[in-house]
This record gives sequence, C-alpha cells and structure tokens, in this order.
Amino acid sequence: MTTFQQNFARSEQAQDFLARDVHHLVIDGRRVPAMSGQTLTTVDPSTGEVLARLAAGDAADVDRAVIAARRAFEGPWRTWTPYQRQALLARIAQLLDERFEELIQIEAMDMGAPVSRLRASKPALMKMLSFFSSQAANIAGETLMNGIPGTVATMTLKAPVGVVGGIIPWNGPLNGQFWIVGAVLASGCTTVLKPSEEASLSVLRVTEILHEAGLPDGVVNVVTGLGKEAGHALAAHPDVDRIAFTGSTQTGRSIIEASTVNIKKLQLELGGKSADIVCADADLDKAVPGAAMGVFANSGQICFAGTRVLVQRPIVEEFTEQLLAFMDTLRVGYSLDDAATLGPVISQPQLDKVLSYIDVGRAEGAELLRGGQRLGGELENGYFVQPSVFGGVTNEMRIAREEIFGPVLSILPFDDVDEAIAIANDSQYGLGGAVWSQSLSTALRVVHGVHTGTMWVNCYGHIDPMVGFGGTKLSGYGSKGSAAHMDNYLYTKSVYMEL
Ligand code: NAD
Repeated sequence: MTTFQQNFARSEQAQDFLARDVHHLVIDGRRVPAMSGQTLTTVDPSTGEVLARLAAGDAADVDRAVIAARRAFEGPWRTWTPYQRQALLARIAQLLDERFEELIQIEAMDMGAPVSRLRASKPALMKMLSFFSSQAANIAGETLMNGIPGTVATMTLKAPVGVVGGIIPWNGPLNGQFWIVGAVLASGCTTVLKPSEEASLSVLRVTEILHEAGLPDGVVNVVTGLGKEAGHALAAHPDVDRIAFTGSTQTGRSIIEASTVNIKKLQLELGGKSADIVCADADLDKAVPGAAMGVFANSGQICFAGTRVLVQRPIVEEFTEQLLAFMDTLRVGYSLDDAATLGPVISQPQLDKVLSYIDVGRAEGAELLRGGQRLGGELENGYFVQPSVFGGVTNEMRIAREEIFGPVLSILPFDDVDEAIAIANDSQYGLGGAVWSQSLSTALRVVHGVHTGTMWVNCYGHIDPMVGFGGTKLSGYGSKGSAAHMDNYLYTKSVYMEL
C-alpha cells in the first residue's frame, strides 16, 4: 500500500489482492507466470510509487492463451444454452455488486480515477450486464423465401465468431472490459484479454470473480504485458477470429496491419477531439457544468471528451466567467480520497504530454485563463495537473486538432451555427459532440450537421448499451452497445435444406 493513499484505504480484500508478490496471467482458469519469467511494474499515479508487479506476457503466452480459448470454444461451453449463459451473467452481476467497493479501490489506485467517480459508475456496469444478458436470449436468424426450383427451404443462423482478442486502454478498464466480456458471454465466444500495462489490476481481479461465478476454464483468459509485445502478438495471432480494440488511433493502425494475417474482423474504438457547441440561447446553469465535466471528468482521459468548447460570441465572456467559477468547486486529490472529484493523469509520460500541450497552446497564442501547472504540495509525487482552460483558441491550433487526453479545455468563439458546424467538422476525428441550445430546431440542425458517431443535446456523456456509441472518421468503426455490438461477435450462416 502506498504512503499517502494508506490514509484512505478501507477494503481488506483490495489490500490482500494488492499485496501479492506478482500478479500472474490467467490462462485456462489458472494463474500462471509469464513463460519468460519477466515482470513489469505498475505505478499508483496518485503517488508515483510502485503499486504492483505484473507478469510481462509475450507472444508465447498469447499463444497458450489462444490455445486455451480455442479449446474452450470447441468444448462444453459450446453447448451452453442462452438461459445458462444468462444465469452466469446474473451470478457475475451479483458478485460484482457485492465486491464493487473492493474493485473500485483497486481501480482507483491503479489508474487514478477518484473513488467518487468510480462508485457512481456502478449503475452503468449493472446496465451493461443486464443488456448483454438480454442479448444472449435475442440471437436470431431468419427464415427466407428463395427462388430455387423444387422444395429447398432456406434460413440463416447466427453463430459465435470464435476466439476474440480484446485489447483495452487504461482509462476505465473495470467497466470497459465488459464491452468485450459481456458480449463474449452473451454470444458464446471465448476471449483473450490484453489490458493496458498501465492498468491491468481490475481486469485480473474481475477474471477471478468470473471464475467464482462459474465461468468455465478458458472462456476468459488474460495476458498482461506490453502493447508492442503481447498486444501485437494477439492482433497478429492466426487463430484469433476477431479483435475488439479500444485505444489510440495510432495503435489502431498497427492493429489493422497485424490483423491482415488471417483477415480478422475488427472493432476499433479510437481517439477523439469532440466539439461541444454552446449557443447564445443555452441555459448556462446546465451548459457550464456540462461542458466543463465533458472535459475534466476522469482528468480529461475520456475518448469522447468535448475538449473543443465552441461558444457563440455574445456569451463568451459570461460563459468563461461561469466556467472559471465552476472550476473552483472541483477538488483534485488522491484517488482514494472520497472528497476528490478529479484524480491524477495515468503516468509521468502522460503528465509530460499534457504539460507540453499547455506550452504548445501558449506558444500558438492561445490565452491560458486557468491552470497549466503540475500540482505540488502533498500531491507533488503524483501525476496531478491543474484543470486548465485556454481562451481565444482557433481551430488551426494544435491544441484544437490533436488529442491531449488531459484536463485541458479550449474555448473557440463562433458567430453562427453554420460556422460552429464547420469548425466541429474540421477535425480528423468523429467520436462525440454536443449542442446546448433551448431551440429544438437549432439543436437538430447541429445534430444533423456534425459528422460524428454520437451527439448529445443539452447534456454530455450519457451512454446506454441499448442505444450504443461509436465513432466515424479516425475515431474508428463498430458500435459499442446496441444490437450492432452483438453482430460483431456473431457471423451469419446461410442454410439450404432439400426437403
Ligand atoms: P494505446 O493505444 O496506447 O493502448 C491501448 C491498448 O493497446 C493497450 O492495452 C496497449 O498495451 C495496447 N497496444 C499498444 N501498442 C500496441 C500494438 N502495437 N499492438 C497491439 N496492442 C497495442 O491507448 P491508451 O493510451 O491506453 O488509451 C488512450 C487512447 O484510447 C486515447 O486515444 C483514447 O481516445 C482512446 N480511447 C478510445 C475509446 C473509444 O471508445 N473510442 C475509449 C477509451 C479510450
């Protein structure tokens, strides 16, 4: 347990888990060391101190995990009925509900999100499990007419694609893993998960809980390790049928290349630079906190963060004033501190990246209105950066074009809605976006005009698995949630029957 965080820790189970000497891989239901015997360390971003040692899996470990996943896919798991898979999902939901406090403490220490934020994410996790449970009983083909002479009957079936490689980032693995695990269990696939080397612990702990709930061996395997080793090996493995990837656009590109080995199906949820458009008639009591938390939540480490805040010129001053006043209510602190609303960023390199973008913004002529510094005092050893605001930003500046993935908000003034739509669309990304206006017609004009996978109106960041969420342009393809999500885990088989 790391120094300052110790003052806040409460869960004995979390402490026992973190006290393990090495966190091994999970292959075929067993905890096993990496074949190379190598380990890597993971750090608590609130303190900069080593939190745990992880097995450094590589291609050899990925290979044995894929063999286990394939064996499980071909084994008794295949014969489980949708009702059995639903019952398993229900047991998992129950155990996660009971263990949630333990899990969020592990997650908070591993990736830095404050426990207040993680605690509030429990309903989202429960909804996801409920959604995937419903999907298990909703897998259906069609009976189709045909033009074949005679008595040939035709239909389609939906079948699980097989072994799914799941590669996920560090900004929310506790819930994020269930976009893959939920769909795998609902569809009858199996998986090898490669969590981020920065935040693997909640994935490892959850996998143990899945087995406690009755998950058959080999259905969910976890190989921790570096992206360029374990991640690349998974993306390139010839016996992995599909990859579900969430992470940066740059890594997405290398996964596409690696996946050509056996023409894997891909689901790619990548980066973003979303525009949050605040019109002059917006209700600022809602728009200000909404736009602020659309950037600062999770210390800006959210793919759909609305980091380009487009504000209509007549209200720029009023909006800015209220924004800065709202920021006074934010409390940056240790992830285990109940009073903290924002935690650190994930790592020293990420902190350096955020601070270097603040320098870039200044050098480009944007006006730093708030923040811009690493936090000191008792937080000096953690990777804490002040929530920061730039005013007078233009869309040509790098801070408006590149994903910073930190708590940095840029205010871009605009004159009319057409200009706002043009600015929003002038981006290589197309992930999220929002409009704040009391006029339904203005809001819908923006919704239709902005080329992005998800739009919010007078709110920011709602996601429901029944509705879905996804990107376009360099933000990737393949929806998270909705029936389309399940389609990624199934393939269609056409059947012709001579009667
Ligand atoms: P990242 O791309 O660096 O890493 C993501 C995962 O890919 C990690 O597990 C990493 O180990 C692995 N990886 C790295 N190199 C690899 C390679 N060559 N082959 C295979 N795997 C490799 O991303 P990150 O820094 O962990 O996360 C931040 C990024 O994720 C941001 O760009 C953010 O926008 C994006 N993100 C997107 C969504 C979404 O739904 N669109 C959600 C969360 C995060």
